[in-house]
Amino acid sequence: MIRQAKGKTPRRPPPKKPSNNQKDPVGVYCRVRPLGAEDVECCIEVISNTTIQLHAPDGLKANRNGEFKETQYSFKKVFGIKTTQGELFEDVAKPLVEDIIHCKNGLLFTYGVTGSGKTYTMTGSPGQGGLLPRSLDMIFNSIGPYQAKRYVFKPDDKNGMEVQNQVDALLDRQKRDSQTTVPKTPTTRRIDPEFADMISPEEACKADGVDEDSSYSVFVSYIEIYNNYIYDLLEETPIDPIKPKWNGAGTPLRNNTEFIPPQSKILREDQNHNMYVAGCTEVEVKSTEEAFEVFWRGQKKRRIANTQLNRESSRSHSVFIIKLAQAPLDADGDNVLQDKNQVNVSQLCLVDLAGSERTSRTRAEGSRLREAGNINQSLMTLRTCIEVLRENQMCGTNKMVPYRDSKVTHLFKNYFDGEGKVRMVVCVNPKADDYEETLLVMRFAEMTQEVEVARPVDRPICGFAAGRRQRNQAFKEELTRRLEERGGPVDESPTVLNQLLQSFPPLPPCVISGPNDDVTLPRLIEALEKRHKIRHMMIEEYNKTAKMLKSVLQEQDSNLLSKENFIQEQRGKLGEKEKMIQNQKNEIDRLEKKSKMLEYKIDILQKTTNIYEEDKRSLQQELESREQRLQREMSEKRRVETRMQGIVTDAKLKWEKECERRVNAKQLEMQNKLWVKDEKLKQLKAIVTEGKTENRQPQRPSRENDKVPAKRSASPSPVPTGPPVRPLHRRSHSAGGERWVDHKPTTNVDLDTVLQPNIPNAIKVNAPNEKALSKCDKYVLTHQEVASDGEIQTKLIKGEVFKTRGGGQAVQFTDIETLKQENPVASSRKRRSSGTGPDGETMEGDWTDVETRCSVALEMRAGSNLGPGYQHHGYPKRRKP
Ligand code: ADP
Ligand code: MG
Repeated sequence: MIRQAKGKTPRRPPPKKPSNNQKDPVGVYCRVRPLGAEDVECCIEVISNTTIQLHAPDGLKANRNGEFKETQYSFKKVFGIKTTQGELFEDVAKPLVEDIIHCKNGLLFTYGVTGSGKTYTMTGSPGQGGLLPRSLDMIFNSIGPYQAKRYVFKPDDKNGMEVQNQVDALLDRQKRDSQTTVPKTPTTRRIDPEFADMISPEEACKADGVDEDSSYSVFVSYIEIYNNYIYDLLEETPIDPIKPKWNGAGTPLRNNTEFIPPQSKILREDQNHNMYVAGCTEVEVKSTEEAFEVFWRGQKKRRIANTQLNRESSRSHSVFIIKLAQAPLDADGDNVLQDKNQVNVSQLCLVDLAGSERTSRTRAEGSRLREAGNINQSLMTLRTCIEVLRENQMCGTNKMVPYRDSKVTHLFKNYFDGEGKVRMVVCVNPKADDYEETLLVMRFAEMTQEVEVARPVDRPICGFAAGRRQRNQAFKEELTRRLEERGGPVDESPTVLNQLLQSFPPLPPCVISGPNDDVTLPRLIEALEKRHKIRHMMIEEYNKTAKMLKSVLQEQDSNLLSKENFIQEQRGKLGEKEKMIQNQKNEIDRLEKKSKMLEYKIDILQKTTNIYEEDKRSLQQELESREQRLQREMSEKRRVETRMQGIVTDAKLKWEKECERRVNAKQLEMQNKLWVKDEKLKQLKAIVTEGKTENRQPQRPSRENDKVPAKRSASPSPVPTGPPVRPLHRRSHSAGGERWVDHKPTTNVDLDTVLQPNIPNAIKVNAPNEKALSKCDKYVLTHQEVASDGEIQTKLIKGEVFKTRGGGQAVQFTDIETLKQENPVASSRKRRSSGTGPDGETMEGDWTDVETRCSVALEMRAGSNLGPGYQHHGYPKRRKP
């Protein structure tokens, strides 16, 4: 019995992307593979089920300041070398498969250095299937009984999914069966031994909560991104004998085999802003085996292309996309509802990324080097995108994430931008050679963990009552049973129908008695018409009820929907509030910490202030004491200044006086000399004129007339010729009251004459001294000199002793008396009194002539032997000419 698909159910607005506030960090897992047989040094240690520790290998340790470097990295979970593929799947991929079945997208990629076990983790090896075959298996285990017939779901070319009607689907199926080239369902075929062991049925997993009232279909695509070109690995490339065989880079192939180089594909954005590979083959698969076979086909193609084009497989990214289309069954629970808006497509991307190492592991020369650069570029872009995302999320910035810089990131843009679960398995090889690369991998992984992706929300359920499939199933089962009971095919109805028929008024006997029987037929017709009427009425009633029920159901449905929406909203709000509370808490924590910090700072500042104040006090004290000292020194200075001024005026006065006195003495001496010369001249004149004028008396020179003639006394200067004496001076008539200092230089010649001055009561000295001067009040110097006529001339130079203001003695010369006598030592001693002794020594200082000696004023201070005056006149350079 073929039932027509029911008329369209009232349309609901297309499910808007519900605004979702909840986010989850990218789940990063770490898998450590066992050390290879050839490797000895291990630089990774699993220290807990979330943390690993890296040790710098021995060689590196020496290079880096010789220090032992250990770093720890934490992940959502760490899988050690003993982890089985099943255990890994359980933790990492199972939740993603559950998600895809519940209409949520997922992205799972492996990241790591070449040889770290990415492919092993993703694909696995015979007997140890990886995440990919296990995911496929779980999907089919979960949706197996609810799969739609082939070609019911049909991908449009815009990343969407359509629902074909039964007839078109049937025709497509027939077409497929007739094509011999297309592999048939694996159930009818022998499984390729190469991958037969990949899926072990005993480990079968199943998702919970699969919506039985939906119909499902799985589509797979397999692409490779190499050198930033996208290649479809499932594309059926017809053999073109005319077209020359070139590879993508424009270089001819090495050999002209059947190999057709793949054409690169481009990325497009669908109406929901999801990225997809335009024109990419999507193969509908109905079982794990079939799906894996398709994968293996692509894998083979990849291998061939790599060999043919001399590419390094570790440098390409492979992306296996599992698309799950699901649509609700119609109200009967029999067929897929033919409404594109009701079709949900979710996808799980399984990505085996290229090796993350910075340089090619094998020789990188020529064109390979360029390729290597590009491939690295993709991973670099991935890293940059993650970095920017993280920064945007953590700092609230809105930097542009450069998804478009590489195909890989561009393809996955929606996982990071939109919603979905993203998981990464970081594969590490613990060998020492990989240490530095592994460090980089770890850093990237740590960063990736900080990126958050919007949590996918639950899709609204469709408006039909649940359990449709089951009822339909039960109905069909019952029907079959009944048919079997009858022992043959009946086009009649099940029990319910019979019962219904029995409730109608019984049919009149319908045996026609004869050709004239015109009662039976009309009666039958009447009865049938009655029945028809009843049936009609019942149908109407039924439709009415159905309509009513439908509207009630719809109402309920919309009520439910709005309630759900409300709940969702409230949940979102709650989440927001919780976040706010958390933020506040964090803020409080931060502020508390800050206040503690500030208190501590205040404490320190207080202490510092105290110290400074102490310093200030002591400095002030010092300043005061210094000021006092300064004051004292100033007053002392002033005192000294005044004293010095007094001394200076004293000295000035004294010297003025002294100068005056000397000038006087000199004047006097000069006058005396003049007078002596005059006298001599007169005497000479008298002698000359003696003969002419007898008894003529010598006359004084006119200028001496005003002076009182000197009263000659016997002592101390008996002058026979009566030399002039200054009238101002008292002559010493007797020695009785006066004490004399009799200064006779040792150089004097003993003349032994009457003219020898003899002063009683005198203190005789060779050189004047203060002691003698202090005792006396008169002074006489006996000075000898050879005159021009050869006679010795003795001069008595007299003076008075004064007490000076400074407490010394001064002599003021007042008189000179000259005595003449023949030189007893003749000419040899003529210059004796000039001061030079017989042995040539300077005697008596430089008292060379009488003028000089007369000018001497001796001043002797108390306590000193030689006064300034003495000293002054004793120097030869000061000798007067
Ligand atoms: P990748 O894809 O990262 O370059 P592979 O997955 O090809 O590395 O792994 C390199 C080799 O190491 C393979 O022979 C693989 O079988 C082995 N291997 C990797 N991880 C494991 C593991 N966890 N247990 C056992 N063997 C592993
Ligand atoms: Mg690999």
